[in-house]
Amino acid sequence: MKIIMLGAPGAGKGTQAKKIAARYGIPHISTGDIFRANIKGGTELGMKAKTFMDQGMLVPDEITIGMLMDRIHEDDCRNGYVLDGFPRTIPQAESLTEALKGMGEAIDYAVNVDVPDENIVSRMGGRRACVACGATYHVEFNAPKAEGVCDTCGEKLVLRDDDKPETVQKRLNVYHEQTQPLIDYYKKAGVLKEVDGTKNMEDVFQDIVAILGV
Ligand code: ADP
Ligand code: AMP
Repeated sequence: MKIIMLGAPGAGKGTQAKKIAARYGIPHISTGDIFRANIKGGTELGMKAKTFMDQGMLVPDEITIGMLMDRIHEDDCRNGYVLDGFPRTIPQAESLTEALKGMGEAIDYAVNVDVPDENIVSRMGGRRACVACGATYHVEFNAPKAEGVCDTCGEKLVLRDDDKPETVQKRLNVYHEQTQPLIDYYKKAGVLKEVDGTKNMEDVFQDIVAILGV
C-alpha cells in the first residue's frame, strides 16, 4: 500500500503517518526527518537544506526529488510506504507519478488531514521534538510523561527552529501557494481521501483506518 499524507505544516501528518506505519507494517518516510538527520550529521545535503528550512521555505525540487526517489527504491519499500511531507509541489507530485508509472505502480491513497490555519498556529507553537529520535509531542495535546524529556529515548525535547511563530506564518503561506494545489491533483487522480484533522489524534486515526481498511 502506497500512501501520501497531505495537509498543512502541523496538521498532524507525522503523527498519523507513524500510526499508519505501525499498523500496516510499512515504512514511514518523512522528507523533513531525512533533512533534519542530514543537518545533524553535518552532510552537504543537510547544509544546503538548512538555509531554506530555517527561513520557512521549501528545499528546492532538484535536491528533494532525487533524495526521495533514492529512498523509495530501498528494499524495505517493496510492500509500500507512507510518505509524510512529500510531495509538496506539483513538480514533485509529477515526478513521483512518472517514477511509479515506470514500474507499473501508482499511489493508492492521498489522505488530506484538514486543519484550518487558526488551529495550526497553536499546534506548532506547542510541538516539541526529540533531538535524538525525532519523536514528536505537544505540550497540551500529547504531553510527554516528564516535561522536556522524550518518553521513548530519554533525550531532550526542543521547539524546532522552524516552529517559532515568525516562521510558522511563512510556512503556512508557502503551503497555500505551493502545496495546497496537490489536493486537486490527487482528486483528479481519483485517490484523494479527506479526514477532519481537528478531531483528537485517536479519532483521526480511526477515520483513516476506515478508509485504508483493516
Ligand atoms: P505535521 O507532521 O503535519 O507537521 P505533527 O504530526 O508533527 O504535524 O503535529 C503537529 C503538532 O500537533 C504536534 O505537536 C502533535 O503532537 C500535535 N497534534 C497532531 N495531531 C493532533 C490532533 N489531532 N489534535 C491535537 N494535536 C495534534
Ligand atoms: P516537515 O518536517 O515535513 O514539517 O518539513 C520541515 C521542512 O523541511 C519544510 O518546511 C521544508 O523546508 C523542508 N521540506 C520537507 N519536505 C520537503 C519537500 N517535499 N519539499 C521541499 N522542502 C521540504
